[in-house]
Amino acid sequence: MNKNVLVTGGAGYIGSHACKALREAGFVPVTFDNCSTGWAEAVKFGPLERGDLLDRARLDEVFAQYQPIAVMHFAALSQVGESMQEPGRYWRDNVTGALNLAEAAVAAGCLDFVFSSTCATYGDQDNVVLDENSQQLPINAYGASKRAIEDILSDFEAAYGLRSVIFRYFNVAGADPDAEVGEFHQPETHLIPLMLDAIDGKRDALTIFGTDYDTPDGTCIRDYVHVCDLVDAHVLGLKWLKDGKDSRVFNLGTGDGFSVRQVISHSHAVTNRDVPYVEGARRAGDCTKLVSGSTRAVAELGWEPKRSNLQAMIKDAWRWHQKTEAHYKA
Ligand code: UDP
Repeated sequence: MNKNVLVTGGAGYIGSHACKALREAGFVPVTFDNCSTGWAEAVKFGPLERGDLLDRARLDEVFAQYQPIAVMHFAALSQVGESMQEPGRYWRDNVTGALNLAEAAVAAGCLDFVFSSTCATYGDQDNVVLDENSQQLPINAYGASKRAIEDILSDFEAAYGLRSVIFRYFNVAGADPDAEVGEFHQPETHLIPLMLDAIDGKRDALTIFGTDYDTPDGTCIRDYVHVCDLVDAHVLGLKWLKDGKDSRVFNLGTGDGFSVRQVISHSHAVTNRDVPYVEGARRAGDCTKLVSGSTRAVAELGWEPKRSNLQAMIKDAWRWHQKTEAHYKA
């Protein structure tokens, strides 16, 4: 039986980990990626089909060739700060790209869709712990683009029967403990890899973006989830759809929030090295606090996060970090 799953963004950070998890679960991950921010070297667990989501004909070709049983959609621009400066790119690449993909999937009769959304769709909501029923009030173009895609999926279900599992991620961190794949963005914008770079002198001191937030130590609070736990949830989401269950939204986080300063002190503890940092201005689009209530994923999907404690995430990221240059060409 065909076990092909079309993984858009399979050459990227989360997508490459998802491909590994899919292969371990007996699926064949077929990566569809334009390699604009991902790495062909990260596609190790199934075929790579180069293509752009804005190219509908290329999508149709790949659907026809592999006849995937489901789509896992990761490919997207994902930087909050950049989305405030170049919102047009976020609307075009993320929303038009997803629209093309959904249309191509429907045309090919591939009606199970796992979508990587984000906690950024919730926006800044007065320090509450967010659950799936919290209002979606994004404050940046990245979050707005992802919310729009959620709306597309809902309309496509009503019209064409395209069923979806939507995951709203909190902050994804860590790396494959075997260090076969990991996080490597060019340019890097995420807190933990930037911090690890600063620790071993690969770049200047980390800048803390804002120390005047309404939090106990003045820095933003985020809920960090291990990338391996996150992709395990995606495999469960795929099985959920294949079992014929209804479309569903799940938050993926741990329920524990850590401030930027706390992440710095954990990194110091894990690496036993000083973290050079300076205090800087706020970054446009940042929410004060994003913490997930993830009881739904645990209760309904049977999700069991195994590595999502900050120490383990930083440890795995550090192991990967020390090998990165051997894997990917910058
Ligand atoms: N952050 C920071 N300095 C950096 C990068 C990030 O202080 O160089 C902060 C950022 O303001 C946020 C947290 O670290 O509060 C996580 O940011 P990241 O970009 O890793 O993920 P995001 O929350 O944007 O998804």
